[in-house]
Amino acid sequence: MAEIKKLSEQIANQISAGEVVERPASVVKELIENSLDANATKIEIVIENGGKDLIKVNDNGQGIKSDQIELAFSRYATSKIEKVNDLYSLRSLGFRGEALASIAAVANVIAKSCHEEENEGVKLVLEGGKVVDKEIIGYNKGLEITIKKLFFNTPARYKYLKKTSTEAAHISRIITAAALARPDVKFTLDHNGNRTITTPGNKNLKDVIYSIYGDSIFDKLISVEFKDNFIEVSGYLVDPDILRSSRQHQYYFVNGRPVYNKFLRLAVEEAYKELFGIKKYPLLFLNINLNPILVDVNVHPTKREVKFSRGKDIKKTIKNNIKDILMKNNQKTNNPKFNKQNHRNNYNQNKTKAESNSANKKILKREVEYLPSRLELTGNIIKEDIKEDNNELIKTESTDKNSSNEENYKDEIHKINKEDENLEIRNILGQLHKLFIIVETNQGVLLVDQHNAHERILYDNLKEKINKKAKNNSRMLLTPIQLNLNAQEKEILSEIKSELNKFGFEIDEFGPSQYAITSVPDFIKDKNPEESINDLINHLLETTKIAKNNELVDELLKYNSCRKAVKEGKYLSESEMRKIIKDLFSTSNPYYCPHYRPIVINFSIDELKQKVERYD
Ligand code: ADP
Ligand code: MG
Repeated sequence: MAEIKKLSEQIANQISAGEVVERPASVVKELIENSLDANATKIEIVIENGGKDLIKVNDNGQGIKSDQIELAFSRYATSKIEKVNDLYSLRSLGFRGEALASIAAVANVIAKSCHEEENEGVKLVLEGGKVVDKEIIGYNKGLEITIKKLFFNTPARYKYLKKTSTEAAHISRIITAAALARPDVKFTLDHNGNRTITTPGNKNLKDVIYSIYGDSIFDKLISVEFKDNFIEVSGYLVDPDILRSSRQHQYYFVNGRPVYNKFLRLAVEEAYKELFGIKKYPLLFLNINLNPILVDVNVHPTKREVKFSRGKDIKKTIKNNIKDILMKNNQKTNNPKFNKQNHRNNYNQNKTKAESNSANKKILKREVEYLPSRLELTGNIIKEDIKEDNNELIKTESTDKNSSNEENYKDEIHKINKEDENLEIRNILGQLHKLFIIVETNQGVLLVDQHNAHERILYDNLKEKINKKAKNNSRMLLTPIQLNLNAQEKEILSEIKSELNKFGFEIDEFGPSQYAITSVPDFIKDKNPEESINDLINHLLETTKIAKNNELVDELLKYNSCRKAVKEGKYLSESEMRKIIKDLFSTSNPYYCPHYRPIVINFSIDELKQKVERYD
């Protein structure tokens, strides 16, 4: 082993840069946080080639004194804390004194500054962390930092960077979050000469949301404002009818800092789920102000996860208040979705009571759907409850006109597993909890998840249709569907647009953040194409990891089949169950849905006998 030596400051900085500066967006995040800590009211960001060629952040904050500017670029140099106790009353975004040193270690930097108490400015030039020039300049109050050649001396890092549009999307998200956290600050972002974000800086959160999301969600915003002894919450939620399939558009701010926190997330999501029963995610913009003593200082430089002491209390307060707000809002707007769900909730509550009271057999019957003889009876009861559910889906997907013909069905008892030729379906026994189809086989019993099964069938059908055609047919829409995209989504759309075109989508840009979908692939035959296509595009934009070509197509097919498949909670008639089981076992993989969730649970008769200790 060689002798032990202290690392040079430069190498130490490069190592710490690995932690702080992961990609251009992390540079932007650090620089913006510094500007905010310096009380800037205007922050202008300019990037080129997704930040890989240039990042410039200009602010009108208090600036750095000319005799301190070198110090700002050395490690552990900060003006924000002096002693350990300061950490517990932290109001600034930064405090580690590492960012500027780390960034400078892996790039070329030009800093121009004029401190509020000084009359002239200073310019400092650094290359790979070393000062190469310093001069006095005339300059406005504030600081401007220009980063060029990021990762020039750490090629492994540089290689790891993604496509321009991906890096730009990350930067847009960072700026969007910062702008939403601070409506009092005006933000602009220019990418390759195009202004992609501009917020008014007029202290009005709703205006910031408008400047980023446009019309698309503006009418759907629900204002939130409440406080109790130790917490104060304000911001906006959205109507349950525009929920998204990912958490991409959820912004939580704790004392002005964009954060992630499990309790906050659960509080909101449980509130929505309990009221509307939907497992999707609301867009939200929530400011949570609380005594910093309750927030555990997060010492990891890049992670935004924070911890609360009294997390459970905080969650309870937020959840209850949000439920109240959503409930009041729905009474006001008389949202049909809510009423329907409320109706279901009442029904479910009745059910629970009934289950605990075995004497109440009448209601309990609704749950007992497993015997063919009872099927019709319970089916009728349930049909009256659930008139809004129509089973058209399965019928329209049906290609076999005789599918409900019992004789026909019995003739074609299916070999359900190619490897196990001996397994045969004997009978469909019924539906369990409106979730499973119960199938008797010669070897035992199968529980088939109705949604997963139908998803697999639709997916295979679509795939077959698409594989047959060289190019997808496209269908022109009578009324184009309008899409309002924010900067981040625009970057992603630019990445997947040509692929979408091949697939049958025509998407035209007709305003700074507005797009119109004029044609869609002809397999999209929804009654309400506007909602489903908006949803689909949003889903694709949120699945930023999609690689080109095949994966995108596959994602489209999966999404479309999942959306159209029968859901849990849907009553199925006997013939519909038969159709699903018959079709399922002719698919490419009856055991897993396209999202790799299992479809079938298999109990052998031996297994069941063992349970009742029958060993004959
Ligand atoms: P930290 O933010 O953790 O203190 P940084 O390395 O990011 O560490 O910044 C070092 C110091 O440089 C800050 O503490 C602050 O005094 C000064 N500084 C950085 N950016 C700005 C800015 N935009 N305006 C004024 N001062 C700044
Ligand atoms: Mg900092």
